[in-house]
Amino acid sequence: MLAKTYPYYLANRARSPNAALDVRDKHSGRVATRVALADAKAIERAIAAAADAAAPMRKLPPYARQAVLEHCVARFRERHDELALALCIEAGKPIRDAEGEVTRLIDTFKVAAEEAVRIDGEVMNLEISARAAGYRGFVQRVPIGPCSFITPFNFPLNLVAHKVAPAIAAGCPFVLKPSEKTPVGALIIGEILAETDLPKGAFSILPCRIEDAGPFVSDERLKLLSFTGGQVGWELKAKAGRKKVVLELGGNAAAIVDADQRASLDRVVERLIFGAYYQSGQSCIKVQRIFAHESLYAELRKRFVAATKRLKVGDPKRRDTFLGPLIDEASAKRLEEWIGEARKAGAKLLCGGRRESNRLEASVLENVPREARLNALEAFGPVVTLAPFADFDEALARVNDSDYGLQAGVFTHDLAHAMRAWDELETGGVVVNDVPSFRVDNMPYGGVKRSGLGREGVRYAMEDMTERRLMVLREG
Ligand code: NAD
Repeated sequence: MLAKTYPYYLANRARSPNAALDVRDKHSGRVATRVALADAKAIERAIAAAADAAAPMRKLPPYARQAVLEHCVARFRERHDELALALCIEAGKPIRDAEGEVTRLIDTFKVAAEEAVRIDGEVMNLEISARAAGYRGFVQRVPIGPCSFITPFNFPLNLVAHKVAPAIAAGCPFVLKPSEKTPVGALIIGEILAETDLPKGAFSILPCRIEDAGPFVSDERLKLLSFTGGQVGWELKAKAGRKKVVLELGGNAAAIVDADQRASLDRVVERLIFGAYYQSGQSCIKVQRIFAHESLYAELRKRFVAATKRLKVGDPKRRDTFLGPLIDEASAKRLEEWIGEARKAGAKLLCGGRRESNRLEASVLENVPREARLNALEAFGPVVTLAPFADFDEALARVNDSDYGLQAGVFTHDLAHAMRAWDELETGGVVVNDVPSFRVDNMPYGGVKRSGLGREGVRYAMEDMTERRLMVLREG
């Protein structure tokens, strides 16, 4: 059960001036809880408090930052079932996916607790020419200052964690705007952070109306904007002024199944099914495009379509449900329209395609023209396109024929092909012998092209949240 209402967190403290935002159960459509909504005044107070907290956060010793993160890990473990249920209700996430996200939330905070005590510097030899004789350099990493975080609906806990945990480890205060579609996960993290003795003003977690969110982007007291979400991120970057910007955006991830995979097809199909449909396809690295070698294409298609038809669809609270609802009806309608458009342009629907309210059947198509939105844009739902390729050069070219580049998956036993994929695919990461959807929380993660700018993965986020500060010392 969710609480009846949730407060927001302003300068570390819970406040409930109102309960203005309805959060619906995405399966039943009923209002599940209400959340306090921050107005422009509250946002201004939070940013001012974060600016005031910059010095106390910088001075907080690494072991104390680590203790805060360890407290969170312990409390997440104690509240595991409640957190998973909250995700299941507010995001419509099948309960097993929700439990997986809570496990990752714990991993992300655990890694941050370790990294908090590993922020090291360098000693430099500056004597590169006679005029620097007797000079030495010392570099330490100092927190960048107050950070602004904006997060999407699809991982209401772990994508908040990927900003909040590195910020605490690095010594940065922050203000966070969670998705208005799924704010509850972030607010439970806020409740747990409020139990710690972080300096006053170190954190604010403020659901708000998008029209009030401007200061999260433009306020010059904020030194970093880290945004995860859709293409609107590029517009926000243009409004961010002098602050550093990290963008974690979407993609239309591809998987290649190489000619040598015939004997491995059982596992390949099992992983492709997971990559295509976990979280009902609402993941930025879900498998959207599958390219299979022509020698095994027909067999892969047969098995993939059969496995798609077997997926258990239903109530996300049931443990045997694999495919739940989409976040809203508009998302399901959009995909229904894209499927129709692709079919009109000559695509063949192999299964699925029907929609009811915010649910779309798992759908597989082939012969989808490259410029159809189903191929060219981010689907972000349970839809997959299949296509054969003749040789590995063609497979690499087809994957790269995209405006996006987050991760790619390549199933191959050929080491030379694996190395070529790593070298030539225009993506932030290449996963060999698994789907592009593979992610653990310490790895560098992020995209190129329209998929974003910069990397997350605790250590890499902390690099953005710290600056190198030099001291030059002349002997004598
Ligand atoms: P979205 O872009 O609609 O919203 C993301 C966040 O931005 C929300 O909090 C929203 O309220 C806020 N927002 C939107 N417009 C804004 C504005 N003008 N000013 C300030 N804030 C604004 O995305 P979504 O639908 O919540 O999430 C899905 C998208 O997120 C997909 O494109 C997905 O690929 C992407 N995503 C990327 C990653 C990654 O790590 N690369 C991870 C998860 C999701």
